[in-house]
Amino acid sequence: VSARLLDGRALATTLRADLTTRVGRLERGAHPPILAILTDGAHAAATLYAASLERAARSIGVETRVIREADVVALERAAAELNAEARVAGIVVGQPFGDPAAGRRLVEHVDVSKDVDGAHPESAGRLARGEPAFVPATALAVIAVLEAHLVRVAGVRAVVVGRSAVVGRPVASLLLARDATVVICHRATRNLAEETRRADLLVAAAGVPLLVRGDMVRPGATVVDCGINAAEGGIVGDVAFSEVEPIAAAITPVPGGIGPVTPMMVLRQLVEAAERS
Ligand code: NAD
Repeated sequence: VSARLLDGRALATTLRADLTTRVGRLERGAHPPILAILTDGAHAAATLYAASLERAARSIGVETRVIREADVVALERAAAELNAEARVAGIVVGQPFGDPAAGRRLVEHVDVSKDVDGAHPESAGRLARGEPAFVPATALAVIAVLEAHLVRVAGVRAVVVGRSAVVGRPVASLLLARDATVVICHRATRNLAEETRRADLLVAAAGVPLLVRGDMVRPGATVVDCGINAAEGGIVGDVAFSEVEPIAAAITPVPGGIGPVTPMMVLRQLVEAAERS
């Protein structure tokens, strides 16, 4: 037996088509949205994220404005200007910053109504309270992939490995909001395998290559791998795919699972924001 593949590429294609139509409608209504991206250019990961967002935006006909500036105070001024500009429907801060604290402060200069990657503490607070909020795109991508493949979430035991503000915590909040029973594991979890083996739905977001091995997964579980780890010969996830795939009922590949859906989630939140205004 082998697991059902939870493909993200096909979903990204479907989302792209839907968003392109909606952007076209906004353009005819003379409200074409702009996506702004702020970065200090210090980290390759942030530069790559900005580039993938630009590419995805272009693919649905959305104009981008990338402001790359090492001086964070200048970026804070830019954020204030972008907040005031009606056509700018979304502002994304490309993390991490050279000075992580400066990156976090910059996010707080973004108007919450334009926080289309759910990075602002107010967005995080709303999400944690179970209220409508912009959500970090990777977390939304997890839900979108599960929904597209009709994976049941309500009532299941979900185990999330990782508690970061960008992936683990928001995924846990979204699963909780959908009535899963949620366990969150992290570096200090005493026996990770014992926890993960109880999962009906296992979400890996630890940033540790091949952390989740075959003997850590319950037969018939659904496994979602958020990991994007550079390795010799390409990208590997947080899940040892070849070991887990024969055991799981369903699994996301890396690459081609959560990754391609993530930029589409930023754009979906951007289009929704533009449609509201
Ligand atoms: P992070 O380093 O901020 O957080 C990692 C979390 O995993 C921490 O909470 C830590 O406690 C936990 N952890 C680390 N080692 C562990 C271990 N051995 N056992 C249990 N828990 C452990 O990472 P992040 O930013 O949340 O990213 C996680 C992964 O997701 C990375 O591979 C990253 O590249 C990827 N990612 C993917 C996307 C995407 O678009 N698909 C977006 C962002 C991040």
